[in-house]
Amino acid sequence: MVPAIQTMSTKRILLVEDEPGLVLTLSDRLRSEGYDVDVAGDGESGLARATGEPFGLVILDVMLPGLNGFEVCRAIRRQGVQTPILMLTARGETTDKVVGLKLGADDYLAKPFDTLELMARIEALIRRSNGSAGATPAGYRFGDVVVDFRRAEVERGGAPVELSAREFRLLRHFIEHRGATLSRQELLNEVWGYDAMPLTRTVDVHVAGLRQKLEPHPKRPQYLLTVHGLGYKFVG
Ligand code: CA
Repeated sequence: MVPAIQTMSTKRILLVEDEPGLVLTLSDRLRSEGYDVDVAGDGESGLARATGEPFGLVILDVMLPGLNGFEVCRAIRRQGVQTPILMLTARGETTDKVVGLKLGADDYLAKPFDTLELMARIEALIRRSNGSAGATPAGYRFGDVVVDFRRAEVERGGAPVELSAREFRLLRHFIEHRGATLSRQELLNEVWGYDAMPLTRTVDVHVAGLRQKLEPHPKRPQYLLTVHGLGYKFVG
């Protein structure tokens, strides 16, 4: 939905798979097609990467050590990360397909698969997610909040919310970097600019302001989270 991230991350693919042979074949093939490939060998690290960094696509195997692919998929979506997910399922397991799509996967492919087929699916998923970014007005929705970037307007439950220009820019920055932990210094640099020299406390005040206006329970935020000792993270 936010073109700035899409263009940056479109060619990055996260491959969550534990079989070394398949990892090797797939990552070679994907790289030869011009993709940047990152590999996670188990569910936990796959989840951490998928929710902490921007990717154009996640290829997620169902059978993984630790958290399985379904659990990873569900957790990624629960954290509000909308990256397209292609699940690799066991052959003939139609229940796998249904469960995967229900948990928020965008497509699935049964093993063993044809590499050409996989490439076609990948291209389609990435094109679709880019296409929807171009076609919809530059907006973002989380909970009952709707953000219109072009008109710099925010609505909550259908009613307009008054944000200061700085609060709006801060919110926009959070949305553009959703899922990532942002330090106070980084937010100051990006949202206030290097020359402004405000105090890091300024960030806290503005985050508190956004929570007050946008969170259902400002004291127990569910979108603008505090990451203790590090900064803030937007999930939504
Ligand atoms: Ca596997």
